[in-house]
Amino acid sequence: MNQFSYLSFFLLAAAAVLAYMWRDTFDAESVQEARVLVTGASKGIGEQIAYHYARFGANIVISARGEDGLKKVAQKCVKLGAQKVSYVTGDMSDPADPDRVIRYALDKMGGLDYLVLNHVGNSYVEFWNRDPDHVRTLMQVNFVSYVQMTAAALPVMEKSRGSIIVISSMAGKLASPYVAPYTSTKFAVNGFFNTLQHELAIQKSNVSVTIMILGLIDTETALNKIKGFSSMTAYPAGEAALSIIKAAATRQKEAFYPWFHYFTCLFRDWFPFIKDLMLSDINKQ
Ligand code: NAP
Repeated sequence: MNQFSYLSFFLLAAAAVLAYMWRDTFDAESVQEARVLVTGASKGIGEQIAYHYARFGANIVISARGEDGLKKVAQKCVKLGAQKVSYVTGDMSDPADPDRVIRYALDKMGGLDYLVLNHVGNSYVEFWNRDPDHVRTLMQVNFVSYVQMTAAALPVMEKSRGSIIVISSMAGKLASPYVAPYTSTKFAVNGFFNTLQHELAIQKSNVSVTIMILGLIDTETALNKIKGFSSMTAYPAGEAALSIIKAAATRQKEAFYPWFHYFTCLFRDWFPFIKDLMLSDINKQ
């Protein structure tokens, strides 16, 4: 075999291993009648997650700040086939609300099988404006409230062999300009929940934690924010939502949507010098 043959063999073997690892083992029946709490479900990706769970016949509680949005999503969930749906308003910038929302979900459903931590606070896409208070508040909404909800739900989810899924971002893997506060919160989420995965494994816990790494998704919020900053392709929220549900149901530790961001992360580490090239679309503003 010459060098070219060795390389081809290696690439084919790597592709075969990845195809096996990423094969679709999702069983829709596994989420039928499951008790699910989806946060930030009044619009965007959370709304789509709620609709998919509804189609699978789950028992759903959704939360966000705005009651009107939640009411509409809950009504549509019923039409799509949810077993039961209810909603609770809560502002995750208020340190009392994460616990309250979990208590509401436990009261309504008598337990919890899936906790989908998805909500995200409003932030800017600009040079860092030197306002530490904004970073503090965003940390509470995007990170500390995730930790609070996990703390409150863990003992109950231990009994139900539950799954916690945290919605993270490529912004938590690859620092890029204009989003310092948001990026910080997602790096915190990745660090905390990755550590928690190890600790739960050591303690032989029944609870699985999935960290979902998303690229750019075509929600109204995201598209408005990147206008004038990036011409990157945005991927459909409905597909992102389904891949989130599948990753949680199959108890994956880390999953990527779109899938190729797995390679973006590998290349970031293998070839650090091409990181700037990957960000050139954003940097040239
Ligand atoms: P979105 O459309 O802006 O929806 C955000 C949700 O969070 C809404 O339901 C919103 O409802 C709720 N929310 C906002 N502030 C809140 C607060 N203080 N307390 C409680 N709920 C609050 O966002 P998205 O684009 O779907 O993003 C969803 C998740 O995906 C986030 O974790 C985000 O970081 C991640 N992600 C998104 C993208 C993307 O390109 N879209 C990429 C990577 C990762 P109310 O305003 O009614 O409270």
